[in-house]
This record gives sequence, C-alpha cells and structure tokens, in this order.
Amino acid sequence: MLKIGLTGGIGSGKSQVATLLEEWGATVVDTDLVAHQLCQTEGLAIAAIAEQFGPEFITAEHGMDRQRMREHVFANPAERQRLEALLHPLIGEEARRQVMAASGLYVVVVVPLLIERGSWRNRVDRICVVDCDEATQKQRVRERSGLTDEVIERIMGAQATREQRLAVADDVIVNDGTTSLHELSRQAEQLHQQWLQQR
Ligand code: ADP
Repeated sequence: MLKIGLTGGIGSGKSQVATLLEEWGATVVDTDLVAHQLCQTEGLAIAAIAEQFGPEFITAEHGMDRQRMREHVFANPAERQRLEALLHPLIGEEARRQVMAASGLYVVVVVPLLIERGSWRNRVDRICVVDCDEATQKQRVRERSGLTDEVIERIMGAQATREQRLAVADDVIVNDGTTSLHELSRQAEQLHQQWLQQR
C-alpha cells in the first residue's frame, strides 16, 4: 500500500488536507489523534502513566488528567521529556498498527514532526509538505486556539523551518495567506490523482 507522510508546521493546513484526502478514499492515520487516543479512558498509555507519574494523574474514568499533566509539564521541561519518552514509542507502535490495518486507496500518515524526529521518514514512500508563511501560520493558530503569540512562537521555534521541510519534500502543497480553500482543494485533488497512479 502506498504510504504518504503528510507534514507541515503548526497551522499550515495539514488537518484540512487530510480531511479532503480521507473524503476521497484515503485512510488517514493522524499521530496527534493517536497520542490523544492513548491517553483517553482505558487508553494504552494509562497504565504506564499511572506507574511512572503516579495515580494522581489518572482521572476517575481511567484517562489521563490532561489539565493536571499540562500544568505539571509546563513548569518542568524534564518531566515533559519523560512524558514524551513514554508516549513516543507507544504512538509509533499504534500508528504503525493502524497503517498496517488500512483499507483505503492509500494511507496518509499525518506527522507534525516528521522532519524533526525522522522515525517516519524511512517508513513512508513519499513526503508531502504543506507549505505556509510564518505570519499566516501564526494568524491561523491564534484564531483557532487563542494561544498567545509567545506560546505560538515557542512551538514554531521547536519545529523545522520552511526551507528544511521543502528540502525533503517529494510533493508540496502551497497553503499560504493568499491560498483559498478552493485552491487548496484543487492542489490536493491533483496530488490525489497522481498518487492513485503510483499505487
Ligand atoms: P494544521 O493541522 O497544520 O495545524 P489546520 O488544517 O488545522 O492546520 O489549519 C489551521 C486553521 O487554519 C484551521 O482553522 C483551518 O480551517 C484554517 N485554514 C487552513 N487553510 C486555510 C485556507 N487556505 N483558508 C482559510 N483557512 C484555512
């Protein structure tokens, strides 16, 4: 099965593109969603979180207490790293399982840090980058989430630059401040047709 790694900075439009491709018959595996699922009620990460961080981080419904964990790691980068080290292999394992089980026309794996972390780079057949200028990224994230500029800039600072992403891209979708949703869809459709030929 053809595997496309879809990446791009925060607010670039990855989810928007993934939604379209899914509508057209691709199977989408979103690693952020996988991370969320792992920490939900009875999720696969709950036992390990309870063991390593303590039962106070688990809710009565047996999910991770997200608010409490967010506050805990916000104040303590070493703890954030510890949580990431715990989740990262589980996310990889579960995402790979979902890729193996995919029944769509092809698989799209949405990996925000595909370039930065590299573990998916050799597991996909093509890397598709959603490219966007930084000012537009910031504006979209501000509108979507209400995060402060400081927090947005910190997130963006930890991500690869546009140039680094474009350097490894096999396919590029331009979704900057002048791109309409119609134009975004047109570019995605063109790649969808191309990938169908490459299966
Ligand atoms: P990502 O998944 O890369 O973080 P999203 O797909 O969630 O980005 O897009 C961020 C926000 O910007 C969303 O609210 C989305 O609807 C909006 N958006 C993305 N592309 C466009 C566009 N071309 N025109 C208008 N709004 C857009």
